[in-house]
Amino acid sequence: SDDGSDARNRPPAKKAAGDVGMVIDHYNSRPEVGVFQRLESPIIGLKNFNNWVKSVLISRFAHPALHQKPQQPSGPGRGHNQQAGKVLDMGCGKGGDLSKWAKAKVRDYIGADIASISIEQARQRWESQRGARFNATFAALDCYTQPLSQAFSLDLLRQPFDVVSMQFCMHYAFETEQKARCMLDNVSRWLRRGGVFIGTIPNAEQLLQNLDDLPPSTEDLTFGNSVYKIRFEDRKHRPVFGHKYWFFLQDAVEDVPEYIVRWDPFVQLASEYNLYPVYKEEFHHVFEEHQEHPEFGPLMVRMKVVDANGESSMDEDQWEAANIYIAFAFEKR
Ligand code: SAM
Repeated sequence: SDDGSDARNRPPAKKAAGDVGMVIDHYNSRPEVGVFQRLESPIIGLKNFNNWVKSVLISRFAHPALHQKPQQPSGPGRGHNQQAGKVLDMGCGKGGDLSKWAKAKVRDYIGADIASISIEQARQRWESQRGARFNATFAALDCYTQPLSQAFSLDLLRQPFDVVSMQFCMHYAFETEQKARCMLDNVSRWLRRGGVFIGTIPNAEQLLQNLDDLPPSTEDLTFGNSVYKIRFEDRKHRPVFGHKYWFFLQDAVEDVPEYIVRWDPFVQLASEYNLYPVYKEEFHHVFEEHQEHPEFGPLMVRMKVVDANGESSMDEDQWEAANIYIAFAFEKR
């Protein structure tokens, strides 16, 4: 097992300026609340739903990859964890998905995030879940400007990942083409062929449609409801990279700069890193597609997305906010 000393012995990262600095400060400053306080969140229904979508993604796309048998017999001395699942959670935050990966029976988990305080909290969460029985290594890293090898030893990276997961964080890389490329290089470089890349990102089509639907005379380019607000700075200027908007989500994200990820240019760029899409759905569709599913239907009740009578725990505004995201899966070929 790795104790994460890689990260601990390095000097703290210097303070980042500009938009990245705002993103780091925001995530670092959010308090780690216990499970009881979380139950009191006014958007607990939406938070449960987002967690359920991530569980579905992990079970449907990452789980098979984790448990695939190796195609080649392993060479001497290299076989000890060939059959086990190895996951990279890029932008892992406070480790909110650790229990999902435990359920997916991961063997090795590597978590990276730019917010060093969040990384410390993720490590503590893993330590308190020792029953989970998987190895975990955590490091603070700007995954969109720095290679993984800067924070993790080559010994740790040499055995390729079966899965790379980026939940609610990839869009920050679309500030520039250079950052998006660095991110994709980190995703693909250490992922095995046949391995999967899963993620959740804002729904660009939905966001741009809402922008187009604003009355032509309005100067304040804001839309949303009681749960979320999005503010664009310009109506016409729509670059592929650096298409910025400001995002507010009740009890979660306070006016942080984010970037539109247009699907087709993303797919085009990903193909340069041998990553090809196998799944892309809006969150509403993920719900509809799986509500009758023998595993994911009952899971929805256990995760309190709906009650035993099938009543949703989200009000209208939360349900609308849910669809500002899409889920995706790519395969490395
Ligand atoms: N993946 C976690 C989850 O689903 O609970 C956290 C999601 S949180 C909305 C977004 C995360 O992206 C934050 O923890 C933030 O620090 C991280 N992030 C933003 N820019 C990053 C970068 N350049 N490198 C690594 N992580 C980054």
